[in-house]
Amino acid sequence: MNSLDFWEKYSMISTSSSFADNAGKPKKCKFCKNQEPKVSFKNIPHIIPELLGSNNVIYQSECDTCNSTFSKYESHLAVFLRPYLTLNNVKGKKRVPKFHSRKDNKGTTEVISNEEGKREMHFNQNLDDFQIDEENKVMHVNFRKTPFKPRYIYKAIARIGISLLPEPQLSFYNHVCEWIKTNNDDLTNFLPHAFITIMTRKKFKSPFANLYKAKDLVVDNEELPDLTLVLGFANVVIQIFLPYSTEFDKIHNDNRNLSINLFPAFAWDDLQNKSSVKITSIDLSSNETISQDQKIRFSFQDIEKNI
Ligand SMILES: [Zn+2]
Repeated sequence: MNSLDFWEKYSMISTSSSFADNAGKPKKCKFCKNQEPKVSFKNIPHIIPELLGSNNVIYQSECDTCNSTFSKYESHLAVFLRPYLTLNNVKGKKRVPKFHSRKDNKGTTEVISNEEGKREMHFNQNLDDFQIDEENKVMHVNFRKTPFKPRYIYKAIARIGISLLPEPQLSFYNHVCEWIKTNNDDLTNFLPHAFITIMTRKKFKSPFANLYKAKDLVVDNEELPDLTLVLGFANVVIQIFLPYSTEFDKIHNDNRNLSINLFPAFAWDDLQNKSSVKITSIDLSSNETISQDQKIRFSFQDIEKNI
């Protein structure tokens, strides 16, 4: 993969760091297209869910009904990302979330970060969730996540992309708006993967989301998904490609390949101590509830043990 490719092929069209909310009156929902007073707009929707870190990126164009659907997706996103949120001390709306594992037939493992960034881990009877290498000061923890629906995670992230989409382009994504807010899935053609980079040195102070658009939908004999969203918080960068627009469907030709250009998030990190970079691809296609374990390795300075 050549990291220059991304910048040759995509340019940023919207970002949470300079987002201007141009909602008119009456307010209209970007997703269900209903206006007030048919639907209410009492909630204050955040473009970037607060579970990724407190932020003020709010907007008006999401009605309370759609907002409550998206809240459900976000609770699945929170489960999926909780190991990162806890380990990085990411303070959401109220506090840094605790990690509680599934019970399975063992018991619960709990990980807590306090305000000073100290971590407490309670393994109860589950010592096999946890391996420690004192000599190298490295710890491996197996996070047995509570169940979640991968499709909801994709939709929670795609929702951020649609929220950032400038109004004139929204008309190419009406089917996507409809698809995101609908629960009984599902017939939209999309690339169901999240591409995740974990940085070792860099940590973002607050979460952000950038939306990029392909400069050309066809390059040589390849087609490019029109929109890609890059979401960053703590030391995590997640990229997804939004479902294809109606413009893309028009040019689509089965004889061409799809060109997937990954965002070079590792360029933000300290590359001097690294010989390779890793981008993990996670399949979010399943609309079934799944249980998943995630092993995370991290280094530590001091440890106190109470066994
Ligand atoms: Zn709505």
